[in-house]
Amino acid sequence: MSELLCPKCSSDRVIATKVDGKINITCLECGHEFKPGQGATSYEDFKNKKKKEIQNNLKLDKQARQGCVVLFLIAILIFIIIKLCS
Ligand SMILES: [Zn+2]
Repeated sequence: MSELLCPKCSSDRVIATKVDGKINITCLECGHEFKPGQGATSYEDFKNKKKKEIQNNLKLDKQARQGCVVLFLIAILIFIIIKLCS
């Protein structure tokens, strides 16, 4: 059987349970539940998955920041238009 690690805390103390014909894996360390495909198979794999997660979060952060900048520019534009009209 291949090694399976919790994708959250990298613990190998995980148990597989079958619920409604679907396999669910529960981490005994942190209580995180995940599906077989979501678990890391080695510590290297765990680190890669974490890295990907962080990269995704950064991407979302960047998008959120860009959204803020656009709102800020619109606010300035409205301010200028009001100034010009008065
Ligand atoms: Zn865990």
